[in-house]
Amino acid sequence: KQIVLDLRETVRTVPGWPIEGVLFRDLTTLMKDPHALRMSCDILFERYKEKKIDKVVGIDARGFVFGAVLAYKLGVGFVPVRKKGKLPYETLEKSYDLEYGSGTLEVHRDAISAGDKVVVVDDLIATGGTVSATVGLVRELGGEVIECSFLIELPDLKGREKLVGCPVFAVMEFD
Ligand code: IMP
Repeated sequence: KQIVLDLRETVRTVPGWPIEGVLFRDLTTLMKDPHALRMSCDILFERYKEKKIDKVVGIDARGFVFGAVLAYKLGVGFVPVRKKGKLPYETLEKSYDLEYGSGTLEVHRDAISAGDKVVVVDDLIATGGTVSATVGLVRELGGEVIECSFLIELPDLKGREKLVGCPVFAVMEFD
């Protein structure tokens, strides 16, 4: 039996979280729906299966969910980019601004090899600060970012404009 599913309807919107004025798009409701989870991961796999990707880089923490599935399906390795203080070995770090606050991201220096073709995965792009810091880390290690891929883009926040020379793909857009 074919299941017809509107992926957008599996995303929950939480007004006023984590701060007043924000409409938070909550993907835990998409992730807990088996058809929505599979459909999301299949869309990403279909897009990258012929692109000769060497590594999938997932951004802490929801980028790990979709990124790890994509790496498994592509048959390539997965690299986590983590918030500062979580990775045990030698790291490269970059600070960034985000929609509410700022932070520092880290990656293991030996996680990416020069010339690696990389797809960067996160759940959502808002202002683009998080992903542009991640792209900076990958490029500093000699990786080539083929595309940055998201479940959701918030186009009003113009995040893709921060990603100079780097294609952006999003499964869905929300205001
Ligand atoms: P940016 O750096 O402003 O693009 O924010 C993107 C980062 O913040 C991603 O890692 C997202 O997981 C997180 N984020 C920002 N807004 C939302 C939201 O509405 N729902 C889920 N995650 C969000």
